[in-house]
This record gives sequence, structure tokens and C-alpha cells, in this order.
Amino acid sequence: MKTRVQAAGQGLAAFLHSVRFRITLWFVLILAVVLAAFSFFIYGMQTRDLQSDAVGHMQDKFFRIMTFFRSPAWQLSELSPTSVPGNDAPLQKGDLLIFLDPYGAIQQRWGETISAPDALMKELVGAADQRSALSIYEQVVPVLGANNVAVKSDYLFLITPVTRDGVALGYVVVGSPSDLIGQQHRLAASLLLGSVGMLVLAFLGGLWLADRAMRPVADIARAARNISEHDLDQRLNMRGRDELASLAGTFDGMIGRLQAAFERQRQFVADASHELRTPLTIINLEVGRALSSRRSAPEYKRALETVEVEGGRMTRLVNDLMTLARMDSGQAILQFTDIDLSELASSAVERLSPLASDRSVQLECGNLTEVHVSGDRQYLLQMISNLLENGIKYGGAGERVRIDVVRKDGQAVLLVSDTGPGIPPKDLPAVFDRFYRADKARTHNGGDDDESSGNGLGLSIVSWIVRSHGGSITVESRVNEGTVFEVALPLLVSPQPARENITASDKVR
Ligand code: ADP
Repeated sequence: MKTRVQAAGQGLAAFLHSVRFRITLWFVLILAVVLAAFSFFIYGMQTRDLQSDAVGHMQDKFFRIMTFFRSPAWQLSELSPTSVPGNDAPLQKGDLLIFLDPYGAIQQRWGETISAPDALMKELVGAADQRSALSIYEQVVPVLGANNVAVKSDYLFLITPVTRDGVALGYVVVGSPSDLIGQQHRLAASLLLGSVGMLVLAFLGGLWLADRAMRPVADIARAARNISEHDLDQRLNMRGRDELASLAGTFDGMIGRLQAAFERQRQFVADASHELRTPLTIINLEVGRALSSRRSAPEYKRALETVEVEGGRMTRLVNDLMTLARMDSGQAILQFTDIDLSELASSAVERLSPLASDRSVQLECGNLTEVHVSGDRQYLLQMISNLLENGIKYGGAGERVRIDVVRKDGQAVLLVSDTGPGIPPKDLPAVFDRFYRADKARTHNGGDDDESSGNGLGLSIVSWIVRSHGGSITVESRVNEGTVFEVALPLLVSPQPARENITASDKVR
């Protein structure tokens, strides 16, 4: 029971904090202000009209009475205004006429009788304005009816002072039953009821509308709650051109990007495991074979050499994976300094010359123009080395690999070209992808025990280094003719004032 009450309380609190409730409340508040202003205006206008109607009517009556008193009929006989027959009689049923002295004491009266009139007469005298001919006063008064029983009714009084030769003689008071107060009350009540009814309807309607408008938000929230790492293929697919459809579209786009990122991650882990499994399998097989029976010394040597090659391959793979992980997580710190690209190219050539001569590949420096860029020496050296190494690795004996550094279109351009086997056009767009190897048969999967055979990470590291230096890389290749990699880097405009440490991801992003 307690939990049910708690749940209801929480539900109410959630409702009171909800956007739809707040929107509705604001809407109703604004409507209330508009309705109040409208009602006051209508009430004011109507009351004025009602009063002027009633006063007009009273004035007619007043002038009829005055005409009657001046007529010979009254002067000749003792005819009272109540006893004149017909519709035009000065006083009609319910009316009253009183002459007051200047102090409010009744001198003469006709028509209906007011019970205990003294206090009222004083008020009427007080209300009479000496400056204006007629004053109006409205009051609920007890009128004596049949059997002398006082019945309260609403009366409108017209009071006028009477003077003769500048001397105040008293007042004439004409009273007539009026429904003015009742009409005003009924008008106020209907305006109030109408407004409250409209507000209630507006609140319910507003809530319904806000609920409808907010439903897509609830759908988005529900979908977001349901989406986990394993079902990132869910989409909202909300149709329409409104703000919520655009929000849902943005959300779908974000889920799409997350899905792609997760997919890349999964693929990366799968590829990395696959790459590590091959050398591990070879090592296990080789060690198992060596241990299965007594072997000769050359056989042990051969087994150990295989283990060394595969161990070296795993070390390189793990190093490359760590480099990529550092780059992805933004932990790779680039130390930007003024670098002469031609000098760096010579260093790389020098470093790789032994490998080239080992493979009988001719490694040569072409046009090395002095161009300065802002860059990290270690990373740029790794980038050039990877490109040269690929040229040496994939070209056979007798092929040529050449490096050029030139200034082109306001950029520093580094060209690594070779006369090797080239890359088939279908593979070209993917060579910078991680773990992508254009011709897998040429690398270690084919059983080649070459230490420098690739793992498909070299060019993706190259591409990352180039992008983190604000540059771009392109490749052109013809099968059996050769490949040219072109790296364009921004020229250093002015000499670097001080060393500047930048997280590589700052530049890549
Ligand atoms: P790997 O470590 O396998 O060399 P890379 O990312 O450096 O990986 O290269 C990806 C693929 O692109 C290689 O497997 C190879 O098929 C192809 N490739 C790269 N450079 C050359 C080149 N100079 N000549 C021919 N093929 C190349």
C-alpha cells in the first residue's frame, strides 16, 4: 500500500516537473490574464450601458412627475401621482416619491413605503450633489409589502435639491425598483464561470496537445534506453519536417556513427587477434615438433630461427598496435619543431640502405630541395621509413625506390616512388585502412618467413601522421610499373619560436 502511494507520489512529482505540464501551465496562465482583462473590459462596458439605461428611464419618470406636479389636475384636486390611471401615470407600482427637508427628514411621500427610512434618507442627502441637478444612488432597501412585511428589493434613487430664490428647501427623491445590481451580479457570475470553464478546457486541451507534441520525445527516450552496445542497428526513423523529427534524425545519425565506431573497434580487435594467432600457431608448431623427439643441432637451430622470426613479427605488430592505440586515444604527443624535410629524407634513406642492399633494391635520393615544415621528427621519420620500407619490401631484386622532396603549390611535397609490382586499382582506395593487405599471398600468410613482411598497419600509421601534421597523402599506382606516394605538408611560414607540444589528436580532429 505504502509503495503504491509512493509510486503515485513519484508519478505526480514527475508530472508536475514534466515539460508538458509546464507548457500547459504557462499557456493557461497567459490565457487567464487575457480572459481577466477581457472580462473586466466587458464588465465595465456593460455596467456603464446598464446604468445609463436605468438612469435614462429614471429621468423620464422624474420629468413626468415634475410635469404632473405642475399640471392643473394636481393643483385643482388632491390627486396623488399614484392614483393617476394609465401607463403614463407619473408613479407606477413599486415606485416611490419623497420630499425631504434640507436635513433629510421626510416631509411628504407617495408610493411604496420603506421600512425605517431615516438612515437611508440621510445617505441619500449625503449622496446628493449640490452642484448637479440629479444624483443617482442605488441600494437594496426593505419595502413594506402586504401585511406590513418588509421585502428587500433593489432600488435606484434619483435625488435632486429643490431651491427657491437661492434658499435650499429640501430634496426630491424618486425611487424605482431596479434590477441593476442583479444584472451586474449575473454578468460578473457568467463572465467568471465562462472564464473558469474556458481555463479548465484550455488546461485539458493544452495538456492533450502538449502530450501529443511530447510523445516523440518519450519515444526517443525509450529507444535511447533500449539501445545497448549489442543492438546499435535500431533507428527511430521518425518521419516529418518538424524539430522533433530533426532531433530524431540527429539521434539516428549519432547511433549510426556509434555503430560504425563499435564495428571498427570489433573489427580491429578481431583483426589484431587474427594477426597474432598466425605467428603464435607457427611458434607452437615449431616448438612442438622440436620437442617431440630428439633432433639434430641444425634442426634445433632452424626451429629457433623460426621462433625468432615469428617473435619479431609479433613484437612489430604489438608495437604498431600500441602506436595506433596511443594515436586513437590522443596520448601520442607530437613535439613540433622546425624540420628540414630533405634532411629527414636523407636520414631515412641512410637508415634503410642496408635493408635495400640486402634485397638488391636500388634506393636513391632524387631531387632533395630544402623545405621546412613544422613537425615531430620521430613521427615524420617513421612516416618516411614506412613508405620507403614498403617500396623495398614489395619490389623485387633489381627494382628501384626513389625519394624526392620539392616545393609545390605552396606546400612541401615528399614523393616516394618505386618500380615495384604496383597496387591493383581495386585495392588502391583501401590501402590506408587498418590491417588491409592488397596481396596477401605476397606477405607472411603465404608462408614467406621474411622478417619484414607486413601486418597491414604501416600505411594507416603513415596516414595518421600526415593528417596530424595538417597534410594529405595520395597514391598513384600501375600494376607491374610502380607506385608513387605523394605527401603534401604545410610549409613552415616563419621559423618556429619555441618548441610546442601538441596532442596529436588536436591536429587530426
Ligand atoms: P603492410 O605492413 O602489410 O606493408 P601497409 O599498410 O604498409 O601494410 O600496406 C598495405 C598494403 O598496401 C600492403 O599489404 C601492400 O599490399 C600494399 N602496398 C603498400 N605499399 C606498396 C608498394 N610500394 N608497392 C606495392 N604494394 C604496396
